[in-house]
Amino acid sequence: MKENKVALVVVDPQIDFFPGGALGAPKAGQIIKPVNTLLNKGRKNSWGIFISRELHDLQTKEHFNVHGTHCVIGSPGAEIHPEINTQGAVFINKGTGPDDHYYSSLKGKDEKGKTLEELLAEFGIVAVMGLVLEYCVGDTAIDIKKLGKETIIINDATAPLTDKDKEKRSELRKLGIMILSTKTFLKRYC
Ligand SMILES: [Zn+2]
Repeated sequence: MKENKVALVVVDPQIDFFPGGALGAPKAGQIIKPVNTLLNKGRKNSWGIFISRELHDLQTKEHFNVHGTHCVIGSPGAEIHPEINTQGAVFINKGTGPDDHYYSSLKGKDEKGKTLEELLAEFGIVAVMGLVLEYCVGDTAIDIKKLGKETIIINDATAPLTDKDKEKRSELRKLGIMILSTKTFLKRYC
């Protein structure tokens, strides 16, 4: 692991997690601009760029009992938001089995079957963003922190589903995860 090598992980920026979608986070629209700013910087600086997406089987059981049907494989809701510039990104598919019920993107795999955890092996600094803060973004950051990496959540590039986001942020900070704005992150790491 190169200590100073940076990766960006954009968690599930899919239509169903934007307003109007099956599990829309009310303020998700606000993340598009900062996410694109970060992705542009990432391409210029040759950072790792990973975008995860939930691709659920229509027969998914427990996970749909908890959250309702969303991000079904092949449905419009599972598409990445069209305003996110995905150029150069490695896509990570997650939650594809009918019995899958988890939130972290680290268990997801690229098209060759490598897990995000394996793909992040060479990176020492990982910035996490996307949707939604209390579930997939938070759990992904927690798992990355457990690997011993410097882990940052980009505050303006993520959005909560509920109004429980204050509690979630303080929980994440207690675990040693930094929560920074896009501006501060770029000043510090770019
Ligand atoms: Zn899901």
